[in-house]
Amino acid sequence: MTVGHGIFILIVVLSLSFFSYNAQRLVRYMMSIGQPENRTDHPLTRIKNLFIIGLAQKKILRDAVAGPLHASVFWGFVVLTIGTAEIIVQGLFPGFTYAAILPVPLYEFYILSQELFAVLVLAAVAVLLYRRIVVKPKRLQGDKVHSGDAILILSMIGALMVSLITLGAFGFALHPDSSTIFQPVSLALSHVFGGLSAGTLEAGRETSWWFHALLILVFLNYLPYSKHLHVLTSLPNTYLANTSGPGVKGAMSYMDLEAEGAEQFGASDVTQLGWKSLLDSYSCTECGRCTAVCPANITGKLLSPRKIMINTRQRLMELAPLATGDFGEFEHHTLVAGEGGDAGDASASAALGNTLLDNYITEEELWACTSCRACVEECPVSIDQLDIINELRRDLVLMESRFPPEIQPAFESLEKNGSPWAFDPGDRAKWAEGMDIPTMAEMVERGERPEVLFWVGCMGSFDDRAKKIAVAFARVLQAAKVKFAILGQEEKCNGDPARRMGNEYLYQMLARDNIETLDRYGVETIVTNCPHCFHQIGNEYPQLGGNYEVIHHSTYIEKLMDENRLPLNGEGKALTVAYHDSCYLGRYNGIYEAPRETMKRALPMMTLVEPPRNRSKGLCCGAGGGRMWMEETVGKRINVERTEELLATGADVLAVACPFCMTMIGDGVKAQGSSVPVLDISEVIAQQLGNQS
Ligand code: SF4
Ligand code: SF4
Repeated sequence: MTVGHGIFILIVVLSLSFFSYNAQRLVRYMMSIGQPENRTDHPLTRIKNLFIIGLAQKKILRDAVAGPLHASVFWGFVVLTIGTAEIIVQGLFPGFTYAAILPVPLYEFYILSQELFAVLVLAAVAVLLYRRIVVKPKRLQGDKVHSGDAILILSMIGALMVSLITLGAFGFALHPDSSTIFQPVSLALSHVFGGLSAGTLEAGRETSWWFHALLILVFLNYLPYSKHLHVLTSLPNTYLANTSGPGVKGAMSYMDLEAEGAEQFGASDVTQLGWKSLLDSYSCTECGRCTAVCPANITGKLLSPRKIMINTRQRLMELAPLATGDFGEFEHHTLVAGEGGDAGDASASAALGNTLLDNYITEEELWACTSCRACVEECPVSIDQLDIINELRRDLVLMESRFPPEIQPAFESLEKNGSPWAFDPGDRAKWAEGMDIPTMAEMVERGERPEVLFWVGCMGSFDDRAKKIAVAFARVLQAAKVKFAILGQEEKCNGDPARRMGNEYLYQMLARDNIETLDRYGVETIVTNCPHCFHQIGNEYPQLGGNYEVIHHSTYIEKLMDENRLPLNGEGKALTVAYHDSCYLGRYNGIYEAPRETMKRALPMMTLVEPPRNRSKGLCCGAGGGRMWMEETVGKRINVERTEELLATGADVLAVACPFCMTMIGDGVKAQGSSVPVLDISEVIAQQLGNQS
């Protein structure tokens, strides 16, 4: 064994030990600080996510500029890790080479892949460094992002690629008979080194090898201290991401309000968040894609989903060493009791006195969220920023009664009237007067069963504009001869506004009442024109034992068209229509085409135009997450921002598929002084109904 060989073995052992210590430390922080969560459900969906989002980089490629660059670095890293392993093993067992164990064609393919990916990664790194240092895109600024860290890591990756190529080039120049066309870049560079002495070439080869091998180990050990920890956590994070079921996204977590001994509801600190939210915080790359699409941030509010993640990580790293006893003198019970521990340690005492809520994330940020899921949709490593926002809102409302004063009347009315507005519950079915629509009670009394239950929702029942949508959809159902009923005054708010505003208690009260009513009538299939009712009843009621087939009216109308049940007149003007995607229909439930398709089929001469932000990239109208009931006093109004881009398409009509969007976009149109009509898709279809006899 040479001295160099011995030194290398020692370095590898020390490096791997230090890395393993840090990896265990971070896992210990996450698991001992975070609350238990089950992330083993739906393994097939998880594996699919791992391949499509993790390995195929589907989400990172949503950014047409930076996406391919980052994906190249990722794929290059995956391929080059095989070569890295060869180099480290060579250091431990001199003379080792894959050539000795692989068939020749496979070995040639391997060395070619190493060379090509090294060049690809090097080129991508150069462009990314240029972007970060010279171009400085807006989304890479702000929120205390660690730009220096990013530059250091990119430089390390670049240096690894350069040393990999010079290693081959010096080797070929020293031993020309070993040259191969399967390392074309090294081969070309070896000609440049051709005039150097054998001693210089040997020194160059040795230096490249040591530089490359040592830099890999430095890189590995730097990751746990860097925002580039995501290099290690992004694939597990993608596998473990929220998946309440195949096709079900965005369901808020179940909360057992009657759990024995439960004293905390929601989270005010990292100790009350699930461990997965803490893994999310480790995995944030600080890329800012989430903040760049956040309607609140875009319109000048304080909220930045990236900052939510950075702050969660900072708070975790402030608290975890104390909570897990890494600093010896602090025990977990000391921390929970809020005592200062060693009185001399001022910073530790300050850390113990801090909380994630207030010291890191303010109320103002939390209440600015519209729950639109644009951040979650955009995050390339499947982080759920909304989980943290929802848990902190729950703490604010359930534990501290801290919420914007203007939502107090909505809470009171939900409790008293079963709707967020102070309308008489007895007036729920007034919109349907004269339409010959039976209630469930009436139908059951006649000994009949409906094909579907039409869930009208509070907007359709009480809001003057939305009542017209309920009428239009009922006309569509009648024209298709669908046997349907409504609940009338037995229907209550589905509870979504209360849940999104943090009032889980009120939500469960409303949801359980509705489930009791639906089960009493044996309801199996529900259609609704409201995406919030659609999402809540279909995706979140199962947590409370309510299981129904819930269909949004866009999909249901499409089905009626497929079955040739809708008598359409096939007439109509050559209209230009711009459709606004509802967040709870699109990003929450993946329904993008049905609203467009139904309008196209009803209006053959229609031209559909799209605003720049459409489908999964669509901009929220500003009403979700309970924002409908809150003042919007900071920055530009979200509905105005959205309406401006819809009107900029030059459309004759703006179409929506949600009564909340109707209000927000309708108000936006008025604010712009425009007379462009805003129609629900059911109104567009109802206008095209032919002879109903
Ligand atoms: S859900 Fe929407 S509003 Fe809330 S933080 Fe994410 S992008 Fe912003
Ligand atoms: S949460 Fe996701 S999208 Fe947002 S900055 Fe972090 S990695 Fe990027």
